[in-house]
Amino acid sequence: MFDHRKLGRELNLFDTDPLIGAGLPYWLPDGAIVRQSLEEYIRTVERRAGYRHVYSPVLGKRELYEISGHWAHYDDDMYPPMVVGGEQVVLRPSLCPHHAVMYRSRARSYRELPLRMAELGAMYRSELSGALGGLNRARCIHLNDAHIFCTLDQVADEAAAALALIESAYRAMGIEAARYRLSLPGPGGKYVAAPDMWQRASRVLTEVLDRSGLAYEEGAGEAAFYGPKIDIQVSDHAGRESTLSTVQVDFHQPERFDLRYIGADGAKHRPVMVHRSIIGSVERAVAHLIERHGGAFPAWLAPLQVAVLPVSAAEHLAAVDLRERCLAAGLRAQVLDASASLGARVRETRSVPYQFILGPAETAHGEVAIRLRDGRRLPARNAPEAVARVRALVESHSIRLWDD
Ligand SMILES: [Zn+2]
Repeated sequence: MFDHRKLGRELNLFDTDPLIGAGLPYWLPDGAIVRQSLEEYIRTVERRAGYRHVYSPVLGKRELYEISGHWAHYDDDMYPPMVVGGEQVVLRPSLCPHHAVMYRSRARSYRELPLRMAELGAMYRSELSGALGGLNRARCIHLNDAHIFCTLDQVADEAAAALALIESAYRAMGIEAARYRLSLPGPGGKYVAAPDMWQRASRVLTEVLDRSGLAYEEGAGEAAFYGPKIDIQVSDHAGRESTLSTVQVDFHQPERFDLRYIGADGAKHRPVMVHRSIIGSVERAVAHLIERHGGAFPAWLAPLQVAVLPVSAAEHLAAVDLRERCLAAGLRAQVLDASASLGARVRETRSVPYQFILGPAETAHGEVAIRLRDGRRLPARNAPEAVARVRALVESHSIRLWDD
């Protein structure tokens, strides 16, 4: 495993500056491509799974967090309020309160449930300076968040479906969970006091885990203040574990925000909130991808996907044409011209998944020779067909470089 802070700087993915501030990383163009690819992937799979995306502001009035319980249970991690127009506003520590208010903004019928509200949004934590580390622990993160408002009967299926989305996302990213943890409350006043609620929520999550057949451990003292959760843990280069993905069952915030839906019986009922994140924050997800893959990301995430290498200046125009064909197919491609030796250019682009090499023979026949990142050399083939094959692999989020 690699240290993402060191490699992130070397690969020009992200950096920090003391003038912007500790724990506030910025993303350079290549890092921004990795992040955008991840965001596009997650929004697409969420849309397919019936989620609808929203946007909500990164600030909220202090009262919003008093109602949600963050002010009482989570104040250590929150930024101090700012006074604007005689009101106190806070940088949000989570997206849940905004989504609860948005649910409440319309009368809801049981026919709308499960209502899956997703947002990839910024949230802020006043982490201590000593705890900060590159993208892994930052003071502003962008969470792949969603809240599913549903009936009690729907909770188990929704939680299980979220776990399945997590598993398929990990396959596409080529990463593995270190372990699954059922995070339960521990001693101390951090948790809302409602023993019956904790029991019911823990029972649902235990059933979901048992039914999934996944091995898991229980972790006392790791729950959210409002409910237990399933945490999917990953390890970093130093063997330290952190939580990437979560599925949580919450009876508390629906109560606090007085959320309702009209049931088939015409009466008002209380929905349950399932909080879930498939890839966690994009910051932590990219940190983990860097550590896991070094610079060699799966092709769909690679900043540069195709390096076009003309053997000599005579193939330059054909190389430019081939690059255009790649760009038109939605691929990220670049020509490295013959001012350096072919060997040097092959080495320079060794973390690029595909090298398209054009010599006189290939150019004469409209073909291209392909060198894969893992060292495999494929026989020359029709250039448009090669582009179509790479495009298909990238669009399917495959971690395989080639399918024969
Ligand atoms: Zn939430």
